[in-house]
Amino acid sequence: MAEVMRKDTHEYLEEVDLYGAHNYKPLPVVLDRGEGVWVWDVDGRKYLDMLAAYSALNQGHRHPAIVQAARDQLDRITLTSRAFHNDQMGPFLRELCETSGYEKALLMNTGAEAVETAIKMVRKWGYDIKGVPRDQAEILVCSGNFHGRTTTVVGFSSEEAYRKGFGPFAPGFRVVPYGDVDAFRAAVTPNTVGFLVEPIQGEGGVVVPRDGYLQETREICAEKGVAFIADEIQTGLGRTGRLFCSEWEDVRPDVIILGKALGGGIYPVSATLADDEFMQVFQPGDHGSTFGGNPLGAAIGRASLKVMLEEDLPRRSAELGEWFMEELRNIGSPHVDHVRGRGLMIGVVIKDSSGPARPFCERLQDRGILAKETHHQVIRFTPPLVISQEVLRDALENIAEVLEGG
Ligand SMILES: *Cc1c(COP(=O)(O)O)cnc(C)c1O
Repeated sequence: MAEVMRKDTHEYLEEVDLYGAHNYKPLPVVLDRGEGVWVWDVDGRKYLDMLAAYSALNQGHRHPAIVQAARDQLDRITLTSRAFHNDQMGPFLRELCETSGYEKALLMNTGAEAVETAIKMVRKWGYDIKGVPRDQAEILVCSGNFHGRTTTVVGFSSEEAYRKGFGPFAPGFRVVPYGDVDAFRAAVTPNTVGFLVEPIQGEGGVVVPRDGYLQETREICAEKGVAFIADEIQTGLGRTGRLFCSEWEDVRPDVIILGKALGGGIYPVSATLADDEFMQVFQPGDHGSTFGGNPLGAAIGRASLKVMLEEDLPRRSAELGEWFMEELRNIGSPHVDHVRGRGLMIGVVIKDSSGPARPFCERLQDRGILAKETHHQVIRFTPPLVISQEVLRDALENIAEVLEGG
């Protein structure tokens, strides 16, 4: 007979503190249920999820169609490894390519793995196609970047906390200032094989580059034979009001990296998309993943993509985001420096003189709204894209009171 031992919030927090590595500083809320835009904690309190797992929950918690696809696939087959084929991977690849307009896709699990895939791909393209001398390939990245947590990736972070104590790091990367076209142009050399960029920097604090930055750097890349790689793990799949954020500047990257919402909030699914010119560099044995392309992930990815398109989540995000951002600006709080973003990817920047953003997030939690600070001064609002205007309107009242209160 199973006895249900219910702990309270405090006991769960103590357990994690005692047995877990202290590599995060979460808000003190312990969730045990989620549905759509709502989550509940172990004490039965209901919250509006305004973080949406860093945009991995664009379709909301437990979207019924995605849950159903997962259930159906659990009843058939879950893992084959890439030693064999399965009947979900091919259709998923085709749907990804048809949706995105790229010729090929390579499936991985986490975002960082898909970034690593892009790095390997453009380096090999540099040697095999562009003719860069062996081991001389260079990739340009941006200040304030976030591309994941592997040792290669943190090695080119400009954030001291991400790097400190984790070296030595892989060579072959150079940081250029985000948003600065001239600095980018000056940094390109004959050995530059790729430019890895977030169309909006999410972890960097919802930093939107000036209009034209993506288009101009994209043109320079085309001129100089440099692969333009858009990390759309956070900005992609509707978050900013377009399927891909690059569309805001009519930019077609050479490589697009997807993750997060590709797994519909259920399962890690990531992909690197490119045309044959790049993808052809991979030969059997070059690259892989035990779980990448597995039938459970592929079935969930297919359903996640389908929901995204059928519910036209990019358009919802564009319309609601524009309205919500305006309403946030209209609050006119003395603590707010400015509000920035695109679609439902919004940052409220707190003035330095008003202290860090964290206490504002704690007060939002008290009022049943879960949001997370990023980069000390920024409150990030990235709710599930299935959110309704009514729910957002109700949230605004609480947000206004918290922002005005200071
Ligand atoms: C979240 C994120 C990643 C890393 O994804 P993981 O799944 O955590 O490895 C990479 N790039 C961007 C822009 C991200 O937001």
